[in-house]
Amino acid sequence: MKIAFIGLGNMGGGMAANLVKAGHQVRAFDLSEEALAAAKGNGCETFTVAREAVAGVEAVVSMLPNGGIVKAVYQNDVIGHAPAGAVLLDCSTIDVATAKDVTASAEAAGYDMVDAPVSGGIAAANGGTLTFMVGGTEKAFARAEAVLNGMGKAVIHAGDAGAGQTAKICNNMLLAISMIGTAEAMKMAEKLGLDPQKFYEISSQSSGYCWSLNAYTPLPGVGVESPADKDYQGGFATGLMLKDLRLAMEAAETAGASTPLGKHAQELYEAFAEENGGLDFSAIIKTL
Ligand code: NAD
Repeated sequence: MKIAFIGLGNMGGGMAANLVKAGHQVRAFDLSEEALAAAKGNGCETFTVAREAVAGVEAVVSMLPNGGIVKAVYQNDVIGHAPAGAVLLDCSTIDVATAKDVTASAEAAGYDMVDAPVSGGIAAANGGTLTFMVGGTEKAFARAEAVLNGMGKAVIHAGDAGAGQTAKICNNMLLAISMIGTAEAMKMAEKLGLDPQKFYEISSQSSGYCWSLNAYTPLPGVGVESPADKDYQGGFATGLMLKDLRLAMEAAETAGASTPLGKHAQELYEAFAEENGGLDFSAIIKTL
């Protein structure tokens, strides 16, 4: 398939390379010359003008920093420029309202479009093992699935337009809360004189079982190997978790959802990110 890929950063670079490996012809665009050079090295055809990249394609994939940029790119360079009938896939993490808005504009111009944010970081993007949560019509999903399969291990239809972004921010709000809870319990056990490894052994097989404890233990040398064992380098950056929490709180307000723990998690991550935005989000344990 002939596919345009817009946004070849930490995530998009590896995703575009995997589309090439899956046998697609990838036409790549980014504002960064460095990103374009890397994409060329990975077998993409590169363009310095977005409208040229989307000419003649059957699908457009984007992986961009935020909703404002996604909206501008689709309005200015994709809608009305990619061939009528192309399927559009935005894989960026953005606010639910903008995702719905851009899809509505695309549909009005005759395109099928999905929001398809991902779970999994840079390693999963490079390894082709991302999980995609997809919002859009049945028809758009079926068309998008054929493209997404080349970049991930799971592709799940979440519901109508915006449902992918909704799933993503609700999941990450839960993750932020559970990580803080896990960190609190581990530090408290330690303060009370319980060996943290013993606590891990017990709680990971009891009702405290959760992903943050069992699969991403935030204390070095305890439980499974995680970013904690590498001085909190790599993993999922605190700054990105904070971005997702802000999107979650924005959406909660719009929907009138009560999220007291989500709000508190955001406040704790805001304070921590001031000096530690680059550390893995499990490093929040250092504040306890
Ligand atoms: P990044 O900053 O590394 O990459 C973004 C790329 O977009 C850059 O190469 C930049 O030059 C390019 N860009 C910016 N404006 C552009 C424009 N107008 N036209 C074309 N290209 C443009 O960011 P990333 O880490 O790759 O993240 C991308 C998206 O994926 C974000 O929405 C992020 O929240 C989401 N995400 C990231 C991770 C992660 O671990 N990094 C995990 C899950 C989801």
